[in-house]
Amino acid sequence: MKRDYYEVLGITKSAADSEIKSAYRKLALKYHPDKNPGNKEAEEKFKEINEAYDILSDKQKKQQYDTFGHDAVNGAGGNPFSGGNPFGGGGFQYSGGVDINDIFENLGDMFSGGSRRRSGRQETNRGADLRADVEVSYNDAMNGAEFTVEIPKKETCGSCRGTGGKDGSKPKQCPQCHGSGQIRRSSGFFSFAQTCSRCGGSGQIIDNPCPQCRGAGAIKKRNSIKVRIPAGVNEGTTLRVSGSGDAGSNGAPAGDLFVVVHLKPMANFQREGDNLHTKISITFAQASMGTEYDVPIINGSVKVKIAAGTSAGTTLRVREQGFPRLGRRDKGDLYVNIDVKIPKSMNDAQKKALFEYAKTMGEIPKDAQYQSDGFFKKFFG
Ligand SMILES: [Zn+2]
Ligand SMILES: [Zn+2]
Repeated sequence: MKRDYYEVLGITKSAADSEIKSAYRKLALKYHPDKNPGNKEAEEKFKEINEAYDILSDKQKKQQYDTFGHDAVNGAGGNPFSGGNPFGGGGFQYSGGVDINDIFENLGDMFSGGSRRRSGRQETNRGADLRADVEVSYNDAMNGAEFTVEIPKKETCGSCRGTGGKDGSKPKQCPQCHGSGQIRRSSGFFSFAQTCSRCGGSGQIIDNPCPQCRGAGAIKKRNSIKVRIPAGVNEGTTLRVSGSGDAGSNGAPAGDLFVVVHLKPMANFQREGDNLHTKISITFAQASMGTEYDVPIINGSVKVKIAAGTSAGTTLRVREQGFPRLGRRDKGDLYVNIDVKIPKSMNDAQKKALFEYAKTMGEIPKDAQYQSDGFFKKFFG
Protein backbone atom coordinates (compact mmCIF):
# COMPACT_ATOMS: atom_id res chain seq x y z
CA MET A 1 0.00 0.00 0.00
CA LYS A 2 1.19 3.48 -0.84
CA ARG A 3 1.42 5.87 2.07
CA ASP A 4 -0.64 9.02 2.09
CA TYR A 5 1.45 11.89 0.73
CA TYR A 6 0.52 14.17 3.62
CA GLU A 7 1.56 11.47 6.03
CA VAL A 8 4.86 11.03 4.19
CA LEU A 9 5.69 14.68 4.72
CA GLY A 10 4.22 14.70 8.23
CA ILE A 11 1.77 17.51 7.53
CA THR A 12 -1.98 17.97 7.51
CA LYS A 13 -4.22 18.49 4.51
CA SER A 14 -4.59 22.14 5.37
CA ALA A 15 -0.83 22.82 5.38
CA ALA A 16 0.14 26.02 3.56
CA ASP A 17 2.59 25.96 0.64
CA SER A 18 5.36 27.20 2.91
CA GLU A 19 4.70 24.38 5.41
CA ILE A 20 4.78 21.78 2.66
CA LYS A 21 8.06 23.18 1.44
CA SER A 22 9.70 23.36 4.84
CA ALA A 23 8.55 19.84 5.77
CA TYR A 24 10.01 18.57 2.52
CA ARG A 25 13.27 20.46 3.03
CA LYS A 26 13.75 19.03 6.51
CA LEU A 27 13.07 15.45 5.46
CA ALA A 28 15.01 15.70 2.20
CA LEU A 29 18.08 16.89 4.08
CA LYS A 30 17.79 14.09 6.61
CA TYR A 31 17.42 11.31 4.03
CA HIS A 32 19.54 12.77 1.27
CA PRO A 33 21.69 10.04 -0.35
CA ASP A 34 24.81 12.15 0.15
CA LYS A 35 24.27 11.96 3.88
CA ASN A 36 23.34 8.28 3.86
CA PRO A 37 25.69 6.58 1.41
CA GLY A 38 24.73 2.99 0.68
CA ASN A 39 21.65 3.14 2.86
CA LYS A 40 18.85 1.58 0.81
CA GLU A 41 16.17 2.43 3.32
CA ALA A 42 17.11 6.10 3.34
CA GLU A 43 17.12 6.11 -0.43
CA GLU A 44 13.61 4.68 -0.58
CA LYS A 45 12.45 7.23 1.99
CA PHE A 46 14.07 9.98 -0.03
CA LYS A 47 12.25 8.88 -3.15
CA GLU A 48 8.97 8.70 -1.29
CA ILE A 49 9.46 12.21 0.08
CA ASN A 50 10.25 13.55 -3.37
CA GLU A 51 7.26 11.89 -4.92
CA ALA A 52 4.98 13.34 -2.25
CA TYR A 53 6.50 16.78 -2.69
CA ASP A 54 6.25 16.60 -6.46
CA ILE A 55 2.50 16.10 -6.18
CA LEU A 56 1.72 18.35 -3.22
CA SER A 57 3.81 21.28 -4.43
CA ASP A 58 2.01 21.37 -7.76
CA LYS A 59 -1.41 23.00 -7.44
CA GLN A 60 -3.01 20.93 -10.15
CA LYS A 61 -1.59 17.58 -9.09
CA LYS A 62 -2.40 18.34 -5.47
CA GLN A 63 -5.98 19.06 -6.34
CA GLN A 64 -6.26 15.82 -8.30
CA TYR A 65 -4.70 13.93 -5.46
CA ASP A 66 -7.04 15.55 -2.93
CA THR A 67 -10.02 14.59 -5.04
CA PHE A 68 -9.09 11.15 -6.29
CA GLY A 69 -6.34 9.99 -3.93
CA HIS A 70 -3.54 7.82 -5.20
CA ASP A 71 -5.77 6.57 -8.00
CA ALA A 72 -5.64 9.96 -9.65
CA VAL A 73 -1.92 10.18 -9.75
CA ASN A 74 -1.18 6.49 -9.90
CA GLY A 75 -3.70 5.15 -12.27
CA ALA A 76 -4.50 1.62 -11.27
CA GLY A 77 -1.07 0.42 -10.32
CA GLY A 78 1.75 2.20 -12.00
CA ASN A 79 2.49 5.78 -11.21
CA PRO A 80 2.08 7.82 -14.34
CA PHE A 81 3.48 10.92 -12.67
CA SER A 82 6.74 9.29 -11.77
CA GLY A 83 9.30 6.94 -13.13
CA GLY A 84 9.44 8.46 -16.56
CA ASN A 85 7.07 7.64 -19.32
CA PRO A 86 5.52 4.19 -19.00
CA PHE A 87 3.79 4.38 -22.35
CA GLY A 88 6.80 5.23 -24.40
CA GLY A 89 6.42 7.44 -27.43
CA GLY A 90 2.64 7.36 -27.48
CA GLY A 91 2.32 11.06 -26.93
CA PHE A 92 1.93 10.81 -23.18
CA GLN A 93 4.45 12.56 -21.07
CA TYR A 94 4.48 12.93 -17.38
CA SER A 95 6.20 15.63 -15.49
CA GLY A 96 7.91 15.18 -12.18
CA GLY A 97 9.55 11.88 -11.59
CA VAL A 98 11.77 10.31 -9.01
CA ASP A 99 14.85 9.45 -10.97
CA ILE A 100 18.00 10.54 -9.25
CA ASN A 101 18.80 13.44 -11.57
CA ASP A 102 15.46 14.95 -10.94
CA ILE A 103 15.93 14.72 -7.22
CA PHE A 104 19.18 16.62 -7.41
CA GLU A 105 17.64 19.17 -9.67
CA ASN A 106 14.83 19.69 -7.19
CA LEU A 107 17.24 20.11 -4.34
CA GLY A 108 19.34 22.56 -6.29
CA ASP A 109 16.29 24.57 -7.13
CA MET A 110 15.12 24.47 -3.60
CA PHE A 111 18.26 25.90 -2.12
CA SER A 112 18.56 28.59 -4.72
CA GLY A 113 15.10 29.74 -3.76
CA GLY A 114 12.21 28.33 -5.65
CA SER A 115 11.81 25.82 -8.37
CA ARG A 116 12.76 26.81 -11.87
CA ARG A 117 9.79 24.97 -13.21
CA ARG A 118 7.28 27.06 -11.34
CA SER A 119 8.90 30.45 -11.49
CA GLY A 120 9.89 32.91 -14.11
CA ARG A 121 8.05 35.10 -16.54
CA GLN A 122 7.50 32.45 -19.17
CA GLU A 123 5.33 30.39 -16.91
CA THR A 124 2.77 33.17 -16.69
CA ASN A 125 2.31 33.16 -20.47
CA ARG A 126 1.99 29.41 -20.70
CA GLY A 127 -1.34 28.25 -22.10
CA ALA A 128 -3.99 27.01 -19.69
CA ASP A 129 -4.36 23.30 -18.96
CA LEU A 130 -7.59 21.75 -20.16
CA ARG A 131 -9.61 18.80 -18.96
CA ALA A 132 -11.60 16.28 -20.94
CA ASP A 133 -13.55 13.29 -19.65
CA VAL A 134 -13.84 10.04 -21.56
CA GLU A 135 -15.99 7.02 -20.82
CA VAL A 136 -14.33 3.72 -21.66
CA SER A 137 -15.77 0.21 -21.78
CA TYR A 138 -14.33 -2.76 -19.89
CA ASN A 139 -12.99 -3.93 -23.23
CA ASP A 140 -11.18 -0.62 -23.82
CA ALA A 141 -9.73 -0.72 -20.32
CA MET A 142 -8.59 -4.28 -20.96
CA ASN A 143 -7.01 -3.73 -24.37
CA GLY A 144 -6.39 -0.02 -24.69
CA ALA A 145 -8.12 2.19 -27.23
CA GLU A 146 -7.85 5.37 -29.20
CA PHE A 147 -10.31 8.18 -28.58
CA THR A 148 -10.97 11.44 -30.30
CA VAL A 149 -11.61 14.13 -27.75
CA GLU A 150 -13.59 17.14 -28.94
CA ILE A 151 -12.61 20.19 -27.01
CA PRO A 152 -12.71 23.94 -27.53
CA LYS A 153 -9.23 25.29 -27.05
CA LYS A 154 -7.26 28.41 -27.72
CA GLU A 155 -5.08 28.21 -30.76
CA THR A 156 -2.50 30.68 -31.97
CA CYS A 157 -4.24 33.02 -34.40
CA GLY A 158 -3.14 32.15 -37.92
CA SER A 159 -3.84 35.61 -39.22
CA CYS A 160 -1.29 37.39 -37.02
CA ARG A 161 0.71 34.32 -36.00
CA GLY A 162 0.03 35.13 -32.36
CA THR A 163 1.34 38.69 -32.24
CA GLY A 164 -2.14 40.20 -32.03
CA GLY A 165 -1.13 42.89 -34.54
CA LYS A 166 -2.63 43.20 -38.00
CA ASP A 167 -0.81 41.04 -40.56
CA GLY A 168 1.61 39.89 -37.91
CA SER A 169 2.89 43.29 -36.88
CA LYS A 170 4.62 43.15 -33.51
CA PRO A 171 3.34 45.04 -30.49
CA LYS A 172 5.21 48.23 -29.65
CA GLN A 173 6.61 49.35 -26.36
CA CYS A 174 4.00 51.36 -24.50
CA PRO A 175 4.99 55.04 -24.76
CA GLN A 176 3.27 55.93 -21.50
CA CYS A 177 5.16 53.53 -19.19
CA HIS A 178 8.09 52.78 -21.49
CA GLY A 179 7.46 49.08 -21.26
CA SER A 180 7.44 48.72 -17.49
CA GLY A 181 3.66 48.41 -17.24
CA GLN A 182 3.65 50.73 -14.24
CA ILE A 183 3.54 54.45 -13.67
CA ARG A 184 5.06 55.96 -10.53
CA ARG A 185 3.14 58.75 -8.91
CA SER A 186 3.96 60.77 -5.87
CA SER A 187 1.58 62.17 -3.38
CA GLY A 188 3.11 64.18 -0.61
CA PHE A 189 5.91 62.15 0.94
CA PHE A 190 4.78 58.98 -0.75
CA SER A 191 5.59 57.56 -4.10
CA PHE A 192 3.62 54.62 -5.37
CA ALA A 193 3.28 52.53 -8.49
CA GLN A 194 0.12 52.24 -10.50
CA THR A 195 -0.75 49.93 -13.34
CA CYS A 196 -0.33 51.79 -16.60
CA SER A 197 -3.76 52.72 -17.93
CA ARG A 198 -2.63 52.78 -21.54
CA CYS A 199 -1.36 49.18 -21.83
CA GLY A 200 -3.12 47.63 -18.85
CA GLY A 201 0.20 46.59 -17.32
CA SER A 202 1.55 44.52 -20.19
CA GLY A 203 4.08 47.18 -21.19
CA GLN A 204 3.15 46.77 -24.83
CA ILE A 205 0.49 48.19 -27.09
CA ILE A 206 -0.87 47.08 -30.42
CA ASP A 207 -1.45 49.99 -32.78
CA ASN A 208 -3.36 48.05 -35.35
CA PRO A 209 -5.04 45.01 -33.81
CA CYS A 210 -5.52 41.86 -35.84
CA PRO A 211 -9.19 41.82 -36.95
CA GLN A 212 -9.34 38.04 -36.70
CA CYS A 213 -8.51 37.72 -32.98
CA ARG A 214 -9.09 41.37 -31.96
CA GLY A 215 -5.53 41.61 -30.75
CA ALA A 216 -5.63 38.60 -28.44
CA GLY A 217 -3.22 36.57 -30.57
CA ALA A 218 -5.31 33.45 -30.04
CA ILE A 219 -8.72 32.15 -31.04
CA LYS A 220 -10.90 29.60 -29.28
CA LYS A 221 -11.63 26.77 -31.68
CA ARG A 222 -13.25 23.37 -31.49
CA ASN A 223 -10.51 20.83 -31.70
CA SER A 224 -10.33 17.11 -32.21
CA ILE A 225 -7.47 15.56 -30.31
CA LYS A 226 -6.55 11.92 -30.68
CA VAL A 227 -5.82 10.35 -27.33
CA ARG A 228 -4.41 6.90 -26.85
CA ILE A 229 -5.86 5.22 -23.77
CA PRO A 230 -3.34 2.62 -22.58
CA ALA A 231 -4.52 -0.81 -21.47
CA GLY A 232 -5.15 -0.92 -17.73
CA VAL A 233 -6.79 2.45 -17.15
CA ASN A 234 -9.38 2.58 -14.40
CA GLU A 235 -12.07 4.92 -13.12
CA GLY A 236 -10.35 8.20 -12.28
CA THR A 237 -7.09 7.51 -14.10
CA THR A 238 -5.80 10.84 -15.35
CA LEU A 239 -3.69 10.96 -18.48
CA ARG A 240 -1.72 13.97 -19.50
CA VAL A 241 -1.32 14.88 -23.14
CA SER A 242 1.56 17.33 -23.17
CA GLY A 243 1.10 20.50 -25.16
CA SER A 244 -2.51 19.84 -26.11
CA GLY A 245 -3.97 22.52 -23.85
CA ASP A 246 -4.51 26.18 -24.74
CA ALA A 247 -1.82 27.85 -26.82
CA GLY A 248 0.58 30.04 -24.86
CA SER A 249 0.94 33.71 -25.60
CA ASN A 250 4.07 35.42 -26.91
CA GLY A 251 5.64 32.14 -27.97
CA ALA A 252 5.27 30.52 -24.53
CA PRO A 253 4.50 26.80 -24.50
CA ALA A 254 0.97 25.46 -24.74
CA GLY A 255 -0.76 24.04 -21.67
CA ASP A 256 -1.50 20.36 -21.24
CA LEU A 257 -4.66 18.39 -21.74
CA PHE A 258 -5.70 16.17 -18.84
CA VAL A 259 -7.91 13.29 -19.82
CA VAL A 260 -9.90 11.84 -16.96
CA VAL A 261 -11.07 8.28 -17.54
CA HIS A 262 -14.44 6.91 -16.47
CA LEU A 263 -15.26 3.23 -16.62
CA LYS A 264 -18.64 2.17 -18.01
CA PRO A 265 -20.13 -0.62 -15.86
CA MET A 266 -20.63 -4.01 -17.48
CA ALA A 267 -23.27 -6.57 -16.57
CA ASN A 268 -21.98 -9.66 -14.77
CA PHE A 269 -18.50 -8.19 -14.32
CA GLN A 270 -16.98 -6.11 -11.60
CA ARG A 271 -13.58 -4.55 -11.42
CA GLU A 272 -11.67 -4.29 -8.17
CA GLY A 273 -8.27 -2.70 -8.59
CA ASP A 274 -6.79 -4.72 -11.44
CA ASN A 275 -8.80 -7.83 -10.62
CA LEU A 276 -11.89 -8.90 -12.51
CA HIS A 277 -14.80 -10.54 -10.71
CA THR A 278 -17.52 -12.61 -12.34
CA LYS A 279 -20.18 -15.19 -11.45
CA ILE A 280 -21.13 -18.51 -12.99
CA SER A 281 -23.81 -21.10 -12.20
CA ILE A 282 -23.10 -24.81 -12.40
CA THR A 283 -25.42 -27.76 -11.87
CA PHE A 284 -25.60 -29.98 -8.82
CA ALA A 285 -24.05 -32.84 -10.83
CA GLN A 286 -21.16 -30.63 -12.07
CA ALA A 287 -20.52 -29.38 -8.56
CA SER A 288 -20.54 -32.92 -7.17
CA MET A 289 -18.46 -34.62 -9.85
CA GLY A 290 -16.27 -31.74 -11.02
CA THR A 291 -16.12 -30.27 -14.49
CA GLU A 292 -14.26 -28.00 -16.86
CA TYR A 293 -16.14 -24.76 -17.45
CA ASP A 294 -15.72 -22.09 -20.12
CA VAL A 295 -16.00 -18.92 -18.08
CA PRO A 296 -16.92 -15.91 -20.22
CA ILE A 297 -14.52 -13.00 -19.77
CA ILE A 298 -14.50 -9.54 -21.34
CA ASN A 299 -13.21 -10.70 -24.66
CA GLY A 300 -13.68 -14.45 -25.05
CA SER A 301 -13.63 -17.11 -22.38
CA VAL A 302 -11.21 -19.00 -20.19
CA LYS A 303 -11.33 -22.69 -19.26
CA VAL A 304 -11.55 -23.25 -15.52
CA LYS A 305 -11.26 -26.61 -13.74
CA ILE A 306 -13.90 -27.04 -11.09
CA ALA A 307 -12.99 -29.70 -8.57
CA ALA A 308 -15.40 -32.44 -7.53
CA GLY A 309 -17.27 -31.44 -4.39
CA THR A 310 -17.28 -27.71 -4.98
CA SER A 311 -19.94 -26.00 -2.90
CA ALA A 312 -22.03 -22.97 -3.76
CA GLY A 313 -20.34 -19.68 -2.87
CA THR A 314 -16.83 -20.96 -3.67
CA THR A 315 -14.61 -18.39 -5.36
CA LEU A 316 -11.85 -19.56 -7.70
CA ARG A 317 -8.89 -17.42 -8.60
CA VAL A 318 -7.42 -17.56 -12.08
CA ARG A 319 -4.07 -15.85 -12.24
CA GLU A 320 -3.32 -13.10 -14.75
CA GLN A 321 -6.77 -13.04 -16.36
CA GLY A 322 -7.69 -9.65 -14.94
CA PHE A 323 -6.83 -6.16 -16.20
CA PRO A 324 -3.31 -5.24 -17.29
CA ARG A 325 -1.56 -3.21 -14.61
CA LEU A 326 -1.15 0.29 -15.97
CA GLY A 327 2.37 0.85 -17.21
CA ARG A 328 3.51 -2.64 -16.25
CA ARG A 329 3.69 -6.00 -17.95
CA ASP A 330 1.76 -8.12 -15.47
CA LYS A 331 -1.97 -8.39 -14.96
CA GLY A 332 -4.51 -8.68 -12.20
CA ASP A 333 -6.39 -11.91 -11.53
CA LEU A 334 -9.82 -13.25 -12.39
CA TYR A 335 -12.11 -14.27 -9.54
CA VAL A 336 -14.93 -16.63 -10.41
CA ASN A 337 -17.73 -16.91 -7.89
CA ILE A 338 -19.60 -20.20 -8.23
CA ASP A 339 -23.30 -20.63 -7.70
CA VAL A 340 -24.98 -24.05 -7.81
CA LYS A 341 -28.31 -24.16 -9.61
CA ILE A 342 -31.10 -26.28 -8.15
CA PRO A 343 -33.52 -27.38 -10.87
CA LYS A 344 -36.94 -25.72 -10.57
CA SER A 345 -38.72 -28.76 -12.00
CA MET A 346 -37.77 -32.34 -12.89
CA ASN A 347 -39.45 -35.04 -14.87
CA ASP A 348 -40.45 -38.35 -13.41
CA ALA A 349 -37.26 -40.19 -14.46
CA GLN A 350 -35.10 -37.49 -12.90
CA LYS A 351 -37.06 -37.51 -9.68
CA LYS A 352 -36.75 -41.26 -9.51
CA ALA A 353 -33.01 -41.13 -10.07
CA LEU A 354 -32.67 -38.57 -7.31
CA PHE A 355 -34.85 -40.69 -5.08
CA GLU A 356 -32.52 -43.66 -5.58
CA TYR A 357 -29.53 -41.42 -4.99
CA ALA A 358 -31.01 -40.15 -1.71
CA LYS A 359 -31.54 -43.75 -0.67
CA THR A 360 -27.86 -44.56 -1.13
CA MET A 361 -26.99 -41.52 0.96
CA GLY A 362 -29.20 -42.84 3.76
CA GLU A 363 -31.53 -39.85 3.48
CA ILE A 364 -34.47 -42.13 2.71
CA PRO A 365 -35.23 -45.54 4.28
CA LYS A 366 -33.86 -48.39 2.16
CA ASP A 367 -37.24 -50.07 1.76
CA ALA A 368 -39.12 -46.92 0.67
CA GLN A 369 -40.91 -47.05 -2.69
CA TYR A 370 -40.84 -44.20 -5.18
CA GLN A 371 -44.22 -42.66 -5.97
CA SER A 372 -44.47 -40.09 -8.69
CA ASP A 373 -45.92 -37.04 -6.96
CA GLY A 374 -45.34 -36.33 -3.39
CA PHE A 375 -42.03 -37.93 -2.43
CA PHE A 376 -40.50 -34.54 -1.88
CA LYS A 377 -43.27 -33.77 0.59
CA LYS A 378 -42.89 -37.09 2.28
CA PHE A 379 -39.13 -37.23 2.70
CA PHE A 380 -37.79 -33.72 2.33
CA GLY A 381 -40.75 -31.51 3.23
ZN1 LIG B 1 -4.73 37.50 -34.80
ZN1 LIG C 1 2.00 51.20 -20.50
